[in-house]
Amino acid sequence: MNKFSYLLIISLLFSGLYFKNFYLINSLQASSKISLDALAGKTNILPVLVIGSGPAGLMAAIYSARAGLHVVVAEGPQPGGLLTTTTEVENWPGDTSILGSDIIKGLRSQALASGVTFLQDTIKEIETTNWPFLVKTEEALEFNCLTIVMATGSTPKRLGIKGEDEFWGNGVTTCALCDAPFFKNKDVVVIGGGDSAVEETLQLLPYVRSVTVLVRSSQMRASQVMQDKLKTNRVKILYNHVPKEILGTDQDGLVGLKVYNTQQKIEHILPITGVFLAIGHDPNTNLLANSAVKKDSHGYIVPLDRSQKTSVPGIFAAGDVADPEYRQAGTSAGDGSKAGIDLQRFLQSLNWTSELQQDYEPLLFYPLSKTQSLLQISSKKELEELINSKPTIVDFYANYCPSCLQMLPVIESVAQKYLDVINFVKVDVESSPELVDYLKILKIPCLIAFKDGKPMARYHQTLNKAELNSFIESNLI
Ligand code: NDP
Repeated sequence: MNKFSYLLIISLLFSGLYFKNFYLINSLQASSKISLDALAGKTNILPVLVIGSGPAGLMAAIYSARAGLHVVVAEGPQPGGLLTTTTEVENWPGDTSILGSDIIKGLRSQALASGVTFLQDTIKEIETTNWPFLVKTEEALEFNCLTIVMATGSTPKRLGIKGEDEFWGNGVTTCALCDAPFFKNKDVVVIGGGDSAVEETLQLLPYVRSVTVLVRSSQMRASQVMQDKLKTNRVKILYNHVPKEILGTDQDGLVGLKVYNTQQKIEHILPITGVFLAIGHDPNTNLLANSAVKKDSHGYIVPLDRSQKTSVPGIFAAGDVADPEYRQAGTSAGDGSKAGIDLQRFLQSLNWTSELQQDYEPLLFYPLSKTQSLLQISSKKELEELINSKPTIVDFYANYCPSCLQMLPVIESVAQKYLDVINFVKVDVESSPELVDYLKILKIPCLIAFKDGKPMARYHQTLNKAELNSFIESNLI
């Protein structure tokens, strides 16, 4: 053995000792911070909080509840997650073809049967520096969580081009499933070359006259099996084209899309009336913006090794929020199952068992359920009577629209506070064509506020309770 080899062995020994000590010091620090002693004097204790109710969140909840743990799922801004915006899913285990919404329905009822409780409130803040983690909601609830599963999914990206904000909800949208029926016999554009772009196109075809798919590179990223589904003469694919500007006027609405052909280096205008975006997603990690939970350069949570643990003990991640690569319903459900097992092991290491949980029962957090429902109208006559009696808020929705199902409980809850001074009503767009035409509804959910018999504001984005309260206080009372 030469001198160099001795030096190498000695330095390897030292680095091994260093890493062993480093690991020991860190695990000691972690275990000395996290102990059930920290629960002394605390109320509203929650062993498992799952944030998000897509396949990842629901599977994490089912695994945890079946282990006898008290679990609350915060449904989040899109109950059921992105899967509810798809139609047929042909790669879910055990089914040749199943609707995305039916997958969620099945998982949700399985979760309820396993003893999971649902919270219809939005998580506003998570304090991750101390354990148990203090969590605050929009409705000013506070509870102390022993474990948290981040299953918050991702949000469709926007283009950031001229005209996008101006025509948002008025011709530009990210949900073909929700808005396709408003584009009957129209020519529309889908932007993007991935599987989502194909899905949007397939959702549009039963309604529209033609779809132009705008792909910025020379090929689509979508799987071949998905691309093959676009072989119809009502779909035209424009490769090497980027969107430049959405065109239109207040009077005529959206009338075209200016595009740039990157090969021929020329601009031209596509005469279309609808733009459907399918250009990828951003992970929903805002709640952890100031935490020590490790994220990659695109904001995705980085799980430890092959587990769903994160860099903060007690916080787990599952589904799209921690997966920039696979993003399938099946892989998300798998992540959720793993997170449910990981968190059981974490709680076991603290000696939190289902027997011990019974001793804590009076101190556990349980959300209250809300059942108030809005008055439903379907004709212009009913609307006119209401808007001429007092300020009125009308919510246009459909049962197939996930964001609408998110808005309804928000409005129902806010309505209880103002029932004496404001009318709150809902309109199902499927059964009220007269009101859809009269108020020129092109995107749902759509919230219209009337004062003195006239429309005074219209919202297409989903509002939370604080935003709706503040709008009412400053405009309608
Ligand atoms: P992807 O990231 O796969 O595709 C995004 C597409 O948008 C790409 O073609 C990209 O172009 C394009 N794009 C991005 N930014 C712009 C821009 N500013 N202007 C124009 N084009 C833009 O996202 P998807 O949402 O389609 O899919 C995400 C994941 O979800 C994938 O793993 C997919 O397989 C999965 N999925 C599966 C489905 C199924 O199995 N049924 C359905 C839907 C999604 P470029 O390629 O040049 O980067």
